[in-house]
Amino acid sequence: MNLTKILKTACGKEISDCTNEELYFGLLAMVQKMAKEKESNAGKKKLYYISAEFLIGKLLSNNLINLGIYDDVKKVLEENGKNLSQVEETEPEPSLGNGGLGRLAACFLDSIATLNLPGDGIGLNYHYGLFQQVFKNHLQTEEPNPWIENQSWLTKTDKTYEITFGNLTVTSRLYDIAVTGYEGRTNKLHLFDVESVDESIVTEGIQFDKHDVARNLTLFLYPDDGDEAGQLLRIYQQYFMVSNAARLILDECEAKGCKLYDLPDYAVIQINDTHPTMVIPELIRLLLQRGISMDEAIDIVSRTCAYTNHTILAEALEKWPVHFLKKVVPQLMPIIEVLDDKVRRRYNDESVAIIDRDDRVHMAHIDIHYGFSVNGVAALHTDILKDNELQNFYRIYPEKFNNKTNGITFRRWLLHSNPKLTELISSLIGHGFKKNADELEKLAAFTDNETVLNQLLAIKQDNKKALKDYLLHTQGLEINENSIFDIQVKRLHEYKRQQMNALYLIDKYLEIKAGNKPTTPVTAIFGAKAAPAYVIAQDIIHLILCLQDVINHDPEVSPYLKVVMVENYNVTNAEHLIPACDISEQISLASKEASGTSNMKFMLNGAVTLGTEDGANVEIHELVGDENIYVFGESSDAVIAHYANSDYCARNYYEKDPAIRRAIDFITSDTLLKIGSREHLERLKNELINKDWFMTLPDFQAYKAKKEEALRDYEDRMAWAKKMLINISKAGYFSSDRTIEQYNNEIWKLGQ
Ligand SMILES: *Cc1c(COP(=O)(O)O)cnc(C)c1O
Repeated sequence: MNLTKILKTACGKEISDCTNEELYFGLLAMVQKMAKEKESNAGKKKLYYISAEFLIGKLLSNNLINLGIYDDVKKVLEENGKNLSQVEETEPEPSLGNGGLGRLAACFLDSIATLNLPGDGIGLNYHYGLFQQVFKNHLQTEEPNPWIENQSWLTKTDKTYEITFGNLTVTSRLYDIAVTGYEGRTNKLHLFDVESVDESIVTEGIQFDKHDVARNLTLFLYPDDGDEAGQLLRIYQQYFMVSNAARLILDECEAKGCKLYDLPDYAVIQINDTHPTMVIPELIRLLLQRGISMDEAIDIVSRTCAYTNHTILAEALEKWPVHFLKKVVPQLMPIIEVLDDKVRRRYNDESVAIIDRDDRVHMAHIDIHYGFSVNGVAALHTDILKDNELQNFYRIYPEKFNNKTNGITFRRWLLHSNPKLTELISSLIGHGFKKNADELEKLAAFTDNETVLNQLLAIKQDNKKALKDYLLHTQGLEINENSIFDIQVKRLHEYKRQQMNALYLIDKYLEIKAGNKPTTPVTAIFGAKAAPAYVIAQDIIHLILCLQDVINHDPEVSPYLKVVMVENYNVTNAEHLIPACDISEQISLASKEASGTSNMKFMLNGAVTLGTEDGANVEIHELVGDENIYVFGESSDAVIAHYANSDYCARNYYEKDPAIRRAIDFITSDTLLKIGSREHLERLKNELINKDWFMTLPDFQAYKAKKEEALRDYEDRMAWAKKMLINISKAGYFSSDRTIEQYNNEIWKLGQ
């Protein structure tokens, strides 16, 4: 195969005469063709991973890596005076996800294809994604995030369905994105769109007519549900997604000769969080239409569907009012009523009912009763589900509950994002770790090898310099590459406690003003989008942006401390931030972060975790040992007890701890009010003193002490490099290849 020739043909002219954009489109066409050649019909049973989100990131480089032609393409471009990174910059990032749950779905697709398993994703083709975050006056504003170009990764298919709601019928169309495996087969991400979608109905920012469902259905992920029209729209979206999914699944199975009674031999459906729950009643409905009895339909579907729980936060567990469902999906309500009736007859327990006394449908309860598997996403999370949140279900169905600790694809989060580290590892232990992540353990042989430790530090330094250049180039932010990079990037949520990090920075700022200067300067980096309607989250962003302004412009402090909030945190940003990190902030309130996956990405890239005993941090801690992680804070048991006893009072901490009081009072100091908004800052301060639902204040002193310990330890470069190497060597467990093997062996059972 002559790459130069193929690429020339794809571009229609000499490579050296092409713009970066022309090269991108040429490579895109070439990759799509090569990916198609690896499509496969092997395997009778197929997995369908249904998810409202697929946070896939840019695809060009990862596809080149997975197809095994990355280095060759890079070389061909270089020979013609071109640069692959610059070509990659012209690719827009699809914003088809919000955070960890969507990124997990993307990592899973990569691993499923890499392991040569038959498994496709099914979701929606949101034209404007979640939103693009733009900072104005120290506040987040939201803009549409268009990503679909004339030529894109989407392939238009001729598959269309008529989807009927209570008061309207729309025509759907299927678009596919090829999912290449690393030296593996090509699977598909199926994204359904509505033919009548109309981008022009978006007015100011991300506003649009929520009632015009035929036009707005696939414009945005998670449209504002602050009013009734918004909530109805989410139900329209969910039903549209699963009705299309159910028909596609039945079509594909019937084409393979499935008799419907044997559906579980042909299909397994993984329901990613509660958003796709309606696939259960919808499949039952379609089976009834095909002449199968209710009891048989329920049995067939129950043996086909499996559910993944992603959160214990009550507000995130969906409960739709019956009258909303009657309006949008009247055809499903009689089925949901039967499902509820059966549960009520079998178990005399209101807490496991599907339709509660307030006439709300508990989506997770449908999944648990009428799916064959319920999994949590980290060991601690699954234990909390069994012992607390879903205890009454665990008593009924102990055999359904299982744990699948999350993972990440090393192709994106190491090979692509950190080529220098990848090269060092390969030179030390060979290439085997790229497909067998456990081989990273071989790095343990080098923990006392000063040459290797110095190489590791040099790579980190290069990556920090690269991040500095990237932030300057993309956002005009200036940072010092010789400072300690302390990074907290993730969705903005009170339980993740960015506000605790902000309070630490206020404390640090005041300490530096008082003359207590750190040995090595510190750069605190944040990145986070907040749900537009989440008021306190917006206030926290405001505080961080004000701190950035005050601290970075204070000549006394800024040589020692800088605060940077990266705009529009997304996969592309993450790929630059994570390889450059020294300290990974994973400081959620214990029990609240189901797993976390950025904790794994940072570890793999040689950052040391500063975190609570929460989610997968617990497993990281077990793997690396006390010496190689900084753990602090109340235990999940203690936290759960505080909630049970309602015995936490934030104000006591504010009144009794002078450091806490000083930091909180600073939020409404003249210094901040001069540049910030009184409304936002006062509301946040009041929240912290009077509510602090996620208990930042009890953990504040422990957090501060641990962070100071980490900053001190950083000074011994060899000892720190050893911690880095041990973290990398133990990260193999968090490969999504391991996670997917477990899903397959214990839930999906494909090809067995
Ligand atoms: C990995 C990832 C997340 C998840 O981060 P957590 O810290 O685990 O919540 C969110 N957004 C992006 C862009 C990611 O890459």
